Amino acid sequence: MQLIDSHCHFDFDVFDPDRAQVWQQCREAGVERLIIPGVSKPRWPGLFDLVNREPAWYAAVGLHPWWVAESETEPAELQRDIAEQLQANPCVAIGECGLDGAIAIPLEEQESHFRVQLALAEELELPLIVHACRCHGEMLRLLKEYRPGRGGVIHAFSGSEEIAREYWKLGFYLGAGGTITYGRAAKTRRAFAAMPLESLLLESDAPDMPVQGRQGQRNSPEYLPLIAEELAELRGISVEEIAAQTRRNTEHLFSL
Ligand code: ZN
Repeated sequence: MQLIDSHCHFDFDVFDPDRAQVWQQCREAGVERLIIPGVSKPRWPGLFDLVNREPAWYAAVGLHPWWVAESETEPAELQRDIAEQLQANPCVAIGECGLDGAIAIPLEEQESHFRVQLALAEELELPLIVHACRCHGEMLRLLKEYRPGRGGVIHAFSGSEEIAREYWKLGFYLGAGGTITYGRAAKTRRAFAAMPLESLLLESDAPDMPVQGRQGQRNSPEYLPLIAEELAELRGISVEEIAAQTRRNTEHLFSL
């Protein structure tokens, strides 16, 4: 099995003590490549340092909605900062960016920063790594307004098949993560069972989003095969088929 983790925060400090060992375990488990999205300006240099050390790691650059308040960056400044990074460093996408309806930062404030990143993705012809939590209505409205040509991924998608199809129609893949291992996420599991396999990516979202049975522990990309197995079971096909198609999807979206 050769898997790509399409969303992993492997640059986070929580991996500093044992990153090399975790990566070794990833490769033993068949996880061969990682997409590591950027979350905030102060963290971008560390991310680029990291991906420069390992050809199987790829960076994206963006401002995550959770970091919008502390970044104290005006949207115009953010646009300049991201454009500068994209000139200086190889990046496979813009992100992680988006909207989160479950945090204290007002959606309007998040939206002005997200718009900058939508416009850049369109201008520079890059795909987007999108965080969309409890905001599918607003998110679909914005994606329909910009219609970024290279599309992207709705990472850690959670929602109905109907919403998943709306995203796919706009050129956005759906990221399957730890959520699908929880029986209570029935609606999301049904969506991932029903969507075309050509629309799905696999992701750990490590260190967040642990799979069922590992709640409260640091999540790790080495557990990605558990998500592949769950998806195979949900769809009644082999895990090899899941691995092969999601790998092709990820390579296609990010031009790997
Ligand atoms: Zn993330």
